[in-house]
Amino acid sequence: MAEVLDLTVLAPQEEVLIAETTSPDIVARIHALKEELRDRVVILGHHYQRDDIVQFADRTGDSFELARYAANLKDREFIIFCGVHFMAETADIVSGPDQKVILPDLKAGCSMSDMARLDQVLDAWDYLDNVIDTTKVCPITYMNSSAAIKAFCGEHGGAVSTSSNNKAIFEWAFNNGFEKIFFFPDQHLGRNTAHFQLGIPLHDISLFDQTQPGGGLHDEELTSARVLLWRGHCSVHQHFQASHPNIMRALYPGIQIMVHPECNFEVVKNSDKVGSTAFIMKTVEEAPAGSLWAIGTEHHLVNRLKHDHPDQFVTTLAPYACECATMYRISPEALLDILEHLKQGEIKNQISVPAETAKWANVALQRMLDITKRAS
Ligand code: SF4
Repeated sequence: MAEVLDLTVLAPQEEVLIAETTSPDIVARIHALKEELRDRVVILGHHYQRDDIVQFADRTGDSFELARYAANLKDREFIIFCGVHFMAETADIVSGPDQKVILPDLKAGCSMSDMARLDQVLDAWDYLDNVIDTTKVCPITYMNSSAAIKAFCGEHGGAVSTSSNNKAIFEWAFNNGFEKIFFFPDQHLGRNTAHFQLGIPLHDISLFDQTQPGGGLHDEELTSARVLLWRGHCSVHQHFQASHPNIMRALYPGIQIMVHPECNFEVVKNSDKVGSTAFIMKTVEEAPAGSLWAIGTEHHLVNRLKHDHPDQFVTTLAPYACECATMYRISPEALLDILEHLKQGEIKNQISVPAETAKWANVALQRMLDITKRAS
């Protein structure tokens, strides 16, 4: 039976845009403190940050791009990372020993990153070790994971990956003697990469449910799978549903559907383009006037693309605003508070990764950089 599209669930795009305003007094105080501390402080803003934070950022970008940028600013003593916890950890790992990384709100975590705790991963690895030869298993973790998980991967011969280079990292693993990949924490990025980019059949990809004994898998499944996926997901991208592309196509003939690979398998399958944040931004930037886009990624980024490209039609793929609630915790008030403390000589909310963890996490990060460089 043909799918019935419920077009009434889709509000006009203007209705899903959220107005954000900050009092002129706070804006003026942040600018004044920024100016006062300009030789010591750099403010970074992730692409998913709200506009009333982005306005103060010295640089915007994705998490790793920002961390590397900050690390090159050796003269800046303080890196204020307007993003989430794992991003600030990465910045601390790659920055110099005299640089201090600050997260304006310590509650700004990432639900996906929190879905893979080190104790769970160690338990899973121990279990696997009783069933298969784990020296043939390559642990790979998405950038969106804690420093502890990155360190685990570094120490066990694996690497970090991003949504832009996940395919290259998977290929490196299979070309370097590993028979199996254990991918943390985003099952969707792992499945989409393995199946759509590497052509691995779905029956060779198994979901390891960390809440179940043995991952909820039979030993034969653990043995035969080429890719094991940790049961994690992004709570923002999971809102996009396979029916959304069809609704958009019915509403706006000629529209192109472009989604982030953190979206689930069915959404990706039903889309015209899939790629990282950088890919999505570049695609819209290079598209001709009159192009129509329904984009499946975080709402603030979509909103910014819509604003920056008025000659195109840009809207969110979902009928409601899919925004990252934890990113949203970084408020102008929190940023002001950090700057006021720095002015008084107090460092508030510093993120500091223990040395041993940083050492191994850096191994995994460096491996990723080397692989990506060789692959490009
Ligand atoms: S958008 Fe998803 S993956 Fe990114 S920080 Fe938010 S919860 Fe984590």
